[in-house]
Amino acid sequence: ELLQQVGPRLHAQLRESDTVARLGGDEFAVVLPTAGDEAGAVNAAGRLLAALQEPFAIESQRLQIGGSIGIAISPEHGTDPATLMRRADIAMYVAKQNRVGHAVYSPEQDRHSPGRMALAGELREAIRAGQLVLHYQPQIDVRTRSLAGVEALVRWDHPRHGLMPPDEFMSLAEESGLIGQLGEWTIREALAEAHVWRAKGTQVPVAVNLSMRNLQDPELPNLVARLLEEARAAPQELKVEITETELMADPELAVAVTRRMRAMGVMLSIDDFGIGYSSLAHIRELPVNEVKIDRSFIAGLGDSAEVNPIVQSTIDLGHNLGLVVVAEGAETQAAWDTLVELECDVIQGYLLSRPVPARQLARWVAASPWAAGTPATA
Ligand code: C2E
Ligand code: CA
Ligand code: CA
Repeated sequence: ELLQQVGPRLHAQLRESDTVARLGGDEFAVVLPTAGDEAGAVNAAGRLLAALQEPFAIESQRLQIGGSIGIAISPEHGTDPATLMRRADIAMYVAKQNRVGHAVYSPEQDRHSPGRMALAGELREAIRAGQLVLHYQPQIDVRTRSLAGVEALVRWDHPRHGLMPPDEFMSLAEESGLIGQLGEWTIREALAEAHVWRAKGTQVPVAVNLSMRNLQDPELPNLVARLLEEARAAPQELKVEITETELMADPELAVAVTRRMRAMGVMLSIDDFGIGYSSLAHIRELPVNEVKIDRSFIAGLGDSAEVNPIVQSTIDLGHNLGLVVVAEGAETQAAWDTLVELECDVIQGYLLSRPVPARQLARWVAASPWAAGTPATA
């Protein structure tokens, strides 16, 4: 509703010849063919920001929002759309960082903190240009010793920096407003891959990680429904992992969103459980299917005779609430054995396999004693 109100407000500040478009998430682009020079563009930016500052009325609530605007000017900053978009993006990032409302692109910004700035601009293109890849890590059902599911983990195959792990660009994606597009890409890609596996006889849910920013998007359930339909996938083939910390950051929103997703039939998992100090009462309210014990608790498991009480109590708690309990980060046989003893349901970790490209996972499934639906005899 807010986005629907923002559009017309921006539009009202523009001329007939100007264009305003929503790029996705909470990002808009404005093209001003007759702004003339930098002063004209800055002037327009000021008007747009002022228009956003007026409170919005959403369901009888007054909502105060702000915006950050990045300005790129043609021909000074580029003559093709891609370059102009990238540079406007860098400028927007500067505006956001410095909390100044708007900023005009300057090459110094690129130089200022070259790595990060340039990356922010490159990430948008990366999504479009297919530089993002998903690696998949298998999860094994302890009881049946068969494949229980796979987790999709994103990497950026950067032309100069090589394969970048998510920790190096995820916060960038959040800050630059690209997390929505990234989430959409991840779900679409993971479902497409699940479709390939299904055709080959491996039918397990694929888990994707979403951040709270994704869940805050009121369009998310509709988007997920559309992507499921696109991939001809059943809702239970998709699992969404959300960290306990993020769920606890806004408990009310967490309940609302998880209920909506769950009502659609999508599977839900609480990720990194044990470090967020959630209250038992609250976990009860969330209609999730599983908890994943944070890997920091699993790493050293079995090294000493004493079992971390968090692991034991999370498994018991999970079972009492009727949830599947997953342990991630199992690196050793000792950890595996301890988890089996504690009656953990599902195990994931380097011991079994690192996250690998889809094709490699298919080989792993074929070669290992674990196979979907066919319990190993070993
Ligand atoms: P996570 O969801 O907790 O993912 C598990 C991480 O643990 C992965 O790191 C995986 O490679 C690593 N891991 C798995 N088994 C072991 C093990 O036995 N030992 C050790 N030491 N580590 C293990 P990765 O792929 O670097 O991902 C890091 C984080 O990035 C993820 O943590 C997740 O929070 C985030 N992330 C990954 N993909 C996405 C995505 O598509 N969207 C969002 N929003 N976040 C993502
Ligand atoms: Ca995860
Ligand atoms: Ca985790």
